[in-house]
Parts: sequence; structure tokens; C-alpha cells
Amino acid sequence: KLRVLSGVQPTGTLHLGNYLGAIQQWVKNQDKFDNFFTIVDLHAITLPHDPKALRQSSMTTAALYLACGLDPKTSSIFLQSHVPAHAELTWLLNCATPIGWLERMVQYKEKARKAGENVSVGLLDYPVLMAADILLYQADLVPVGDDQNQHLELARNIRGRFKNLYDKRGKRRVFKEPKTLLQKDVARVMALDDGTKKMSKSDESDNSRINLLDPPDVIARKIKRCKTDSIAGLQFDNPERPECNNLLTIYQGVTGIPKEDIAAEFADSNFGTIKKVLTEALVEKLTPIQTTYGELMEDQTYLKQVLRNGAERANSVASDTLAKAQSSMGFVTLD
Ligand code: ATP
Ligand code: MG
Repeated sequence: KLRVLSGVQPTGTLHLGNYLGAIQQWVKNQDKFDNFFTIVDLHAITLPHDPKALRQSSMTTAALYLACGLDPKTSSIFLQSHVPAHAELTWLLNCATPIGWLERMVQYKEKARKAGENVSVGLLDYPVLMAADILLYQADLVPVGDDQNQHLELARNIRGRFKNLYDKRGKRRVFKEPKTLLQKDVARVMALDDGTKKMSKSDESDNSRINLLDPPDVIARKIKRCKTDSIAGLQFDNPERPECNNLLTIYQGVTGIPKEDIAAEFADSNFGTIKKVLTEALVEKLTPIQTTYGELMEDQTYLKQVLRNGAERANSVASDTLAKAQSSMGFVTLD
């Protein structure tokens, strides 16, 4: 089986973008692949953070992974910080990564602009840690939303550079080349208050997103108030109408109805109609997830056991790769 690795940062509650762009697809394919799904808590400290919120969000994210349908029998689910090799390999890769490669990253530039005075070395280094996450598991495929494309390309470049510098000295290939697995239909969910920016956990406005834990009345209110336009009818892919495209796309992602059918059904409708059916579809989709989530959080013993097992399996794979990397770079092994 091909191996898959992906993750979400515990920087807040998961939203529809994380679900449609990433988790839904992980769940759909989990029987096909050998899966590692991590909660990337080391990434979550690249911007100033509150320790209590990090602890909470890490457990919430883990519970939501399970509630959304990830099965610990087929997927290793773990916290990144429980596998020390992530930090260790990052250092090795740092020393093989030109700093200019990182300064070019769009997400770095955006987040750095917002962070102002508080830009840490970690924020710049974020993509190298992400490269380590992927390379440690010899992942074949990395399913992500398309906002992560550039980082994945970088991970491949770092691997290429490492290979040129060190692989040729040993007989073994240290890292496998990872491919991006892009969600076809809903690669990018946009914000409800602005169809040109992506839905994000870190957006200041809670009204910009539907969180997976939003109760029905909150979902209804957010959809009711979301940005629209005054053109007649509804359509996909009109660049003048990003909000219209976004609502239809979310509807498509949540219901699984083919795009052509939705386009035909709503061609002569107004926003009132799509808002109503979308709200219903969202409530129907999210209610069972929220129920399971509530049960998992009530007594966290099971959740912690899942994370313990996941970390154990992850550690055994990751430490193996780390040892190969260390040895090919010239570190002494005593055995
Ligand atoms: P933050 O604002 O803290 O960066 P985020 O909402 O961007 O949070 P991440 O943890 O960075 O979420 O990303 C987790 C996964 O969700 C990634 O695979 C990413 O591609 C995907 N993702 C995030 N936002 C969206 C979106 N709006 N549409 C589709 N996929 C998304
Ligand atoms: Mg992000």
C-alpha cells in the first residue's frame, strides 16, 4: 500500500476548509493507503500562542479526527511533539536548505506581515519542519488543500538537495519523493465574508468560517449573513462572483452532488435558496460529527490511548529514517 501523511495545526477549531480540503478526503481513502495523520503542534507555536489553548486545541483536533471518521485501526493518529525525530530531522534539513528558498514562501510573507514585530525564526522555518514531517515517514502521497502546494514543492526541493549532497555517499536512498494529492473538487474553501481569501483558523473574524463544532443556529446565522452579490441566478467559476462560486462549491463538497447537477439546479435560483439548502446540508453533515466529538471529549482515556498507540508506531518509522539521514550525513553511530 502507498503511504500517506498529512496533518492539521492545533491553532484553533477545525473548519469547513480543513474538512473539505483535507480530512474528508483522508477518510474517503483511508482503506486504500497506509496512513499517518498527525496533529502538528510544533507548527502551532510558530506564531505567538497561549499554552493552555494549544493543549486544548491539540486534544480537540484529535477528537475531531476520530469524529470525522478516521479509524485508528487503519490510520496512525499522533501528536507531532510526541515524535522527537521531527525536531531532530528539521535541524539536519535546516543546514541543507538555502535561506532564500524560505523567504520566498507566500504563507511566510503573509503571516510575517500580520505578525509584525513578532516574527520568529520558527515562522520562517515552518516549511522545513513540514518537509521533515513528510520525509520521515517515506510518504508517497500528501493529501492537502492547494494552499500547501508551494510548501510541498519546497519539501521535494529539500529532498533533492539532500540527495545530491549526501545520498550518493551511501548505497541507500534516505528519503522517498513525496507527491501532492490534491482534492479535485474542493481544493480551496474561501472565507464567508470575502470570496477572495481562504477560510482559515487564524482569521480574526469567526464569521469568516464555519467551524466543525458550530451549533445549528450559529451555522444558520453565519450562512444568512455571508457575503453575496446582486447578479441574477447562481453560477460556478465566474471570477466576478467569488462568493457565489464558494457557496456552490461548499454545497458540492458537503453533499457530493456532481458539479453539473448543482449548476443546472441553481442556475435560476437566488442566494436565499442556496443559503437555505446549504444550511440544511451543513447541519445534517456536522451534527453526527459533533455528537461523536462530545462523547470522545467527555472521557479522554480512549483518545489518549489512540494517541499513545499512534505515537508508538510513528516513532518506530520516524526514528529509522532519522538514523539513515544521520548516518549519511556523517554522524558517528556506536554499535
Ligand atoms: P492557520 O490559519 O492556522 O494556518 P488553516 O485553517 O490554514 O490554519 P492548517 O492547519 O494550516 O489550517 O491546514 C490544515 C489542512 O487544511 C491543510 O491540508 C490545508 O491545505 C487544509 N486547508 C486549510 N484551509 C483550507 C481551505 N480554506 N480550503 C481547503 N483546504 C484548506
Ligand atoms: Mg494554514
